[in-house]
Amino acid sequence: MESFKILHEVPSTVFDCVLIHYGELGLKGLNRPIFEKKLIENICRAVEGLEYNGMRKRQGRIILELKENSDKNKFAESLKKVFGIAWFAFCFRTEATLEDMQLLLKDRFQLEAGTRAKISAKRADKTLPFTSMDVNRELGTYLVKQFKAKISLSEPQKEIFVELFEGKAYMFDKKFKGLYGLPIGVSGKVLHLLSGGIDSPVAAWLLMKRGCEVDFLHFHAFQQFDERRNAKILELVKVLTQFCFKTRVFFVPYYPFEAEAVEAPAKYRLILFRRFMIKVAEEIAKQHDILTLGSGENLAQVSSQTLENIAAINKITSLPILRPLLTYEKNEIVELARRIGTFEISTRPYKDCCSLFISKHPATKAKLEIVESIERKLNLSDAIKESIEKTEIINVK
Ligand code: ATP
Ligand code: MG
Repeated sequence: MESFKILHEVPSTVFDCVLIHYGELGLKGLNRPIFEKKLIENICRAVEGLEYNGMRKRQGRIILELKENSDKNKFAESLKKVFGIAWFAFCFRTEATLEDMQLLLKDRFQLEAGTRAKISAKRADKTLPFTSMDVNRELGTYLVKQFKAKISLSEPQKEIFVELFEGKAYMFDKKFKGLYGLPIGVSGKVLHLLSGGIDSPVAAWLLMKRGCEVDFLHFHAFQQFDERRNAKILELVKVLTQFCFKTRVFFVPYYPFEAEAVEAPAKYRLILFRRFMIKVAEEIAKQHDILTLGSGENLAQVSSQTLENIAAINKITSLPILRPLLTYEKNEIVELARRIGTFEISTRPYKDCCSLFISKHPATKAKLEIVESIERKLNLSDAIKESIEKTEIINVK
């Protein structure tokens, strides 16, 4: 039997590299190198385990070199979750000469006759003997000749982008939108109060978007952390970890507080609980060198979220409390929760607050003196101590 050597043509879906743009946002002065270093580190973590040939930073872009067997979809999925990326594109690369670019157009970009097309060239390499306008014109003319395309600058059906730098041309026809924001790790660490609700996971994601590393603190209704009964919280954290690679969750039982708070007037229990949560959070943050707390609180979404109550809550701690959702509409929060992937989990039943003994009509304008005088009659410091002692830390990757 004759044996054949089958010569495969390189399929047109094999791209040379991914071009990653991070935009100008937040790139002022001294921050820029820190930003870029972190972004590259984070991209490395995001694509860990995928096949590729390395990464380099060039002229305000990151170039990720692909291998022939690189799985494009997996790279796209991973890069879409990295904060700090403005957009990215899978590219073909050739020498930055008009002939080479035309050859590449012929080999890699098939256009049907009559397609309204446009070339958008950007020249970062100012040493080249032509301008980006020249490239637009020459390659546009080539598209008409080679594919019988029509040039349309205002309403193209197909736009082919050309970026010229380091003597090379990078060509692509699809831009994938990134998340923008800042790379996680450039803004320090937050200890974030995570409930099982819709808001606090979204708030955590927004903090990550501003470059914060986020550790989580959850107060649960059980005697001790229980993987099965606290599964909802772990699932929320797992979804969020896709954006931040790794995190910790502090699981704190609140029964010591409950035992004390039965002595307090029902309408003050909610504000007492909030102050208790913040006090515990502050202690844990200090033990772990964390300078800031985060929460999913909103202004006036529920009747107890008033400025008076926020003021009374803040008075219990010297740490700043970041509340990224303060001014959001509920529907905006829900829309974000759906995009992030936490909404469905958040709406599952779960007991995350001592609702059994908290009044249906909590104090809406809690007076600090009254709150403090109630607290003086309770033994909250022991409750705080006991809750902290019973805290369990779970690492999530
Ligand atoms: P969420 O949807 O995040 O629960 P919410 O609008 O329901 O927010 P509240 O339930 O009043 O508001 O809680 C306000 C904030 O207090 C939460 O966003 C969260 O940061 C924090 N919080 C509430 N319950 C807990 C809990 N069991 N553990 C940790 N943090 C909590
Ligand atoms: Mg809630």
